[in-house]
Amino acid sequence: MKNLLATRANPDVTSALSGLFPVDDSPLAISLAAGSPNLDYFPVAAVRQAFLTAIDQQGAGLFQYQTAQGNLDLRQALTARIQKWGQVATTADNVVLTVGGQQGIELVAKALLNPGDEVAVEVPTYIGALAAFDLYQPTYHAVPLEPDGLDLNALEETLKRHPKIKLLYTVPDYHNPTGITMSVTKRQQLVDLANRYDFVILEDTPYRDLGYEAAPLPAIKSFDTQGRVVFLSSFSKILMPGLRTGWLVADGDLLAAIMKVRLASDLETTNITHAAIAAYMQANDLDAHIQTLKTHYRAQRDAMVTSLEQDFPDEVSFTKPAGGFFDWVTLPKGMNAATLLTDTMIPRAHVTYVPATNFYPNRDVTNAMRLSFSGLEPQVITTGMRRLADQLKLAIHRQAPVL
Ligand code: PMP
Repeated sequence: MKNLLATRANPDVTSALSGLFPVDDSPLAISLAAGSPNLDYFPVAAVRQAFLTAIDQQGAGLFQYQTAQGNLDLRQALTARIQKWGQVATTADNVVLTVGGQQGIELVAKALLNPGDEVAVEVPTYIGALAAFDLYQPTYHAVPLEPDGLDLNALEETLKRHPKIKLLYTVPDYHNPTGITMSVTKRQQLVDLANRYDFVILEDTPYRDLGYEAAPLPAIKSFDTQGRVVFLSSFSKILMPGLRTGWLVADGDLLAAIMKVRLASDLETTNITHAAIAAYMQANDLDAHIQTLKTHYRAQRDAMVTSLEQDFPDEVSFTKPAGGFFDWVTLPKGMNAATLLTDTMIPRAHVTYVPATNFYPNRDVTNAMRLSFSGLEPQVITTGMRRLADQLKLAIHRQAPVL
């Protein structure tokens, strides 16, 4: 049967997303791998009520085919939100509701990429974006991150050498996997580069509302004057991932192309869910809910960073995320976080994480790991981190030459 499959779907080549779920069956297991939100914070009763309200108010029509871009009430609410929090002046006509942010990434890839087309990604980068781009068989260019976001000098050098780069993918706010946030200056400079070198920016920002120190920064899209930035966000981290609702903002030809490919893949959006989210936003203060989330996630972040500072060996370096769900930990050169996971951490520490290799399109970096603090209580995080630290000290000691 395999000879009948498209190259892009060859099951012998595993999806980049498969690296996300290392398994540890022990009852002691603590997962710092999955970036799932904490389900204790899901507003189930309010969302249940919102579904009922939407059905009561709109009746059978709610279940009919409706609009291609998605529920207008929700698109209007999102237009107001991105204006307020991201300083993007746009209209509901420019908003497309998607099946999670993930579908938005895939749609942009589908709309832009022919096989072999050149794509720049910051490294490390979001695994799911690689999984989506991989289907379109691009040529990747990896651009390093700095503490204030993408290294724009390195990007410009890459653009000079590869002027055909079409698409740059970035997660500018509380980046997955490093927690890094791009400065406002760089956001503006990045758009200038895109104008000069003629490429599209995909600004993927599901964590932008989850800043633990500061309000969200202006979106990259707010500096866009030529309709070359696609802004993408999601309800997964601020409400619930099971709603499978993301949304993008695009203009002109890009918007038309995205709509064309979206129609082919799902015809319409899940109107019932979107009407329910709109009803939820009308009856509840989403920003107040986000404030509550931030209080919890900040405490979880603090537990992780405190342990990194106090328990981890000096040879290890790490980021201090100001928001989002993740911390990026770099091990001494020569160490391999993937073999460390299977040989030591799962059997001895019963702690899982996602090894670095998964986040690099060329799979060429081994000595780092993504730790997620989103799904666990602070005490559990501290316990897992101590176990990780103890085994790391032993592993680094084993690796060091005996003099
Ligand atoms: N982009 C990034 C950077 C993410 O971390 C995620 C989820 N892990 C997504 C997109 C997709 O999330 P969803 O489809 O649930 O909105």
